[in-house]
Amino acid sequence: MPASEQENQWRVSSGTAAVLGLCSLRMEAAPTTAYLMLGERCARNCAFCTQARASHAHAAALSRVIWPLFPEDQVVAALARAHREGSIRRACFQVTISRGYLEQSERAVSTLARACEIPICVSVAPRNPEDVGRLLAAGAQRVTIALDAACERVYDRVKGGSWAQTLSLLTECAALYPGHISTHLIVGLGETEREMAEIMQRLHDLGVTIGLFSFTPVAGTALADCSSPDLLHYRRMQAAHWLITGDLARAEAFGYNSQGQLVNYGMSPDRLRELLAEGTAFRTSGCPDCNRPYYNEHPGGPLYNYPRPLTRQETDREIDALLDTLDG
Ligand code: SF4
Repeated sequence: MPASEQENQWRVSSGTAAVLGLCSLRMEAAPTTAYLMLGERCARNCAFCTQARASHAHAAALSRVIWPLFPEDQVVAALARAHREGSIRRACFQVTISRGYLEQSERAVSTLARACEIPICVSVAPRNPEDVGRLLAAGAQRVTIALDAACERVYDRVKGGSWAQTLSLLTECAALYPGHISTHLIVGLGETEREMAEIMQRLHDLGVTIGLFSFTPVAGTALADCSSPDLLHYRRMQAAHWLITGDLARAEAFGYNSQGQLVNYGMSPDRLRELLAEGTAFRTSGCPDCNRPYYNEHPGGPLYNYPRPLTRQETDREIDALLDTLDG
């Protein structure tokens, strides 16, 4: 669609649009964050992304989700109402790299911030810390700079560009704007579990909030024929994320086999069971109130990220299955 036709319109994830009353959709779990997309086809070429330059996926798709366009003023009014009523507790702009994307993000953030007090996130590729500062000054509560890959090797292969430079921008921004910087990490792009646990520890020590995703093959992308990670691989990484970000254990204490697979968390199975007992480790992680329903999974399951609290049985089942994969 030509840029002129997109002016004053925002893409809204279909689940978000349903919660906002902009369309009707049957959902097993409703989003508690409003997901909005800004920009056109991205200038970058991440191999997993539906919005990548070379992707053949539909222009309205991001990951598994479809994002129809709605007039900006209609979305802002509906969001202000949903925030007042408590059905939506955060708004998240996902921004592709296209002409004027930073100015467009700033404008969108300040429009929404003027209309209501909802906490706003912007997931964007800033060029420098000043870009981040401008978004925060416009009214964003958090800026997310996606690292996506756990290490240089994987970053090179699936994203291109420099992992080290993105990490250094995250480091600088986390020091300048403490408590306001998040990132995304994708499990299952070819990194070892050790590499993922180590980068989570490093980012947590910097004060960066981590949203964990599972790699999801989507038609039209370069990685469409690859598989999602094994569910237990993902569960081991969710447990590592929970322990690291809760300051309950450090990655240096974890044990790994010769393939870099996590085989223990440096504690007894009973202690691990106790620390995971609430089941929260298996829920969607990242900014507060972000549950991203069905972003990584089919509604029929399996649920990589639970978008809602787990039942007692689900928690016990996940912990038992996880413990079965560990030594001792
Ligand atoms: S963690 Fe959730 S709310 Fe935060 S930037 Fe990522 S998708 Fe948006």
